[in-house]
Amino acid sequence: MHSLEINLNRIRQRISIACASVGRDVSSVTLVAVSKTVGVEAVQAAVKLGVTDFGENRVSELVHKRAVVPDVRWHMIGRLQTNKVKEVVDKAYLIHSLDRWNLAEALQKRADILDITIPVLLQVNIAGEEQKAGVHPDEVLPFLQSIDQLPRIKIMGLMTMAPLSDDPEHSRPIFRELAQMRKQLQQYDIPNVSLRHLSMGMSQDFEVAIQEGADLVRIGSSLFQNNS
Ligand SMILES: *Cc1c(COP(=O)(O)O)cnc(C)c1O
Repeated sequence: MHSLEINLNRIRQRISIACASVGRDVSSVTLVAVSKTVGVEAVQAAVKLGVTDFGENRVSELVHKRAVVPDVRWHMIGRLQTNKVKEVVDKAYLIHSLDRWNLAEALQKRADILDITIPVLLQVNIAGEEQKAGVHPDEVLPFLQSIDQLPRIKIMGLMTMAPLSDDPEHSRPIFRELAQMRKQLQQYDIPNVSLRHLSMGMSQDFEVAIQEGADLVRIGSSLFQNNS
């Protein structure tokens, strides 16, 4: 068996065990295969194995791979520069990395021209790491309450990244806080805001993320690394 298939089987099994451990249905979790370090051949091989969702953190890579492999969902997961909005706005199935108001304005402007709406997740900097992108937790509610000024933007949920660590348990409080934040925000019933998605968990901590309520897990290295 090719190492990609071995890795994928292992990850699917781990996802299903994590779901079972908290009584969740395995179909409630979508694996977003982060293909940023691999070429289109690896993407095509993953598609053959049933992977439907791919994530990229650079616009040029997303646009290129999507042109070659169009029949899957391409997620933009990395920091998005406003000058790249034009290239990606109608190509990403979901943008996970809305992290500032001026990016929302740039998305709105472009979407208006194309007469489309743009599904996005609001990235929240729960951990408060200065070098990490994301809206400060205190700013999330006012941000969401203002988003109906930008009617082309459809907020579909929240995303966060935990600090790098060898111990996945270090991520748990971060993920738990994002899930609790969603629960609190849901009580406000904010116009143009759906909070159905929680994008959290990577190779280092996706099982913990699933236990805490993630429905989109972004997994790169443990899927695509060659360890045969
Ligand atoms: C690279 C990346 C991932 C995947 O990380 P792995 O540790 O390789 O699984 C997830 N999310 C974002 C935003 C990334 O840039």
